[in-house]
Amino acid sequence: MVDIHAHLAAEDFNHDLEDVLARAASANISTIVVVPEFLSEFDKVLELSERHRDLVAPCLGLHPVQSDASTRNERSVTTEEVLPVLDFIRREHSKIVGIGEVGLDFTPRFVKSDDDKAAQRYVLTEQAKLAMDLGLPLNVHSRSAGRPTLQLLKSLGVRNAVMHAFDGKASVAMEGVHVGYFFSIPPSVVRSEQKQKLVRQVPLDHLLLETDSPALGPIKQTRNEPCNLEISCREVARIKQVSFDEVWKMTTQNAVRLFPKLGHVGRQLVPVPNAK
Ligand SMILES: [Zn+2]
Repeated sequence: MVDIHAHLAAEDFNHDLEDVLARAASANISTIVVVPEFLSEFDKVLELSERHRDLVAPCLGLHPVQSDASTRNERSVTTEEVLPVLDFIRREHSKIVGIGEVGLDFTPRFVKSDDDKAAQRYVLTEQAKLAMDLGLPLNVHSRSAGRPTLQLLKSLGVRNAVMHAFDGKASVAMEGVHVGYFFSIPPSVVRSEQKQKLVRQVPLDHLLLETDSPALGPIKQTRNEPCNLEISCREVARIKQVSFDEVWKMTTQNAVRLFPKLGHVGRQLVPVPNAK
C-alpha cells in the first residue's frame, strides 16, 4: 500500500519518527509520499528520504497557508514566498516524485481579501507550471476551494494531479475525474459522511489512499500516522463492496500511474502496469 500524503517532517514526529516508520513498514506500507508545507521543511524532507530510501518518497511544494515563525500566526501565502521555492525545486527536482503540498485554501480565517486569493492562485500557478515543465505530478490541497482549485488546474492544462482530502461535493469531484485527476482518502473517512459520499462516487481507478499524518486520523484530535492507512483501505473496500486486497492492489497501481518514479522507490509494490 502507498500512503500518498504524509507530513513526517512535522514537529509532531520529532521524538519517535523511527518507531512511526517501523510501524508503517509492519503494516504493509511499501511507500510513504512525504510532503512539506513550508520552505523551512524542505531540507528535512529530502534528508528523511535519503535516510529511508526504501520507504520514503519526497515531494516539495509551498502550501497556500503559511505560518510566521515568530507569532505562529497562520495566514495566506504571499507571492514573493514562491520564488525561493521554485529555485529550490529546480535545483533538486531529480530527487523528488512530485510537487506538493500545493493548492488553494479559502477558509475565511486565512483569506482576508481578494488579494489573498489572487496571491494563492499565483503561487499555485507558478508551481503547477514548473511541475508540467519537469514532468512531475501535483499533490494538491483544496480546503473550502474544491471547485476553484479544479478549475484553475484545468485551465492551466494540468493532467497529473491528486486532490488530497477533497472536502467538496462528490459531483464537483467528478469534474476532476473526467480530466484524469485522482482523489485520495484519509482514515478520517470513517467519521466523515462527505468523504464516504466521495468514495461512493469516484471510481476505484481514480482513488488513492493517504493518511495526511499527523492530521485526519480515525479519531479526532489524535495524532495520525501512516500505519493507519489500512483503515482507509478497509473503509473504501466496505463502501465499494470489494475486497481489502482489491483496494490495496488498485490503489497501489494508481499511485504508480500518478507518481511514475515510485516504481523505483517501493520495496514491495504489487503488480505495476508497464513496469520493466
Ligand atoms: Zn497535508
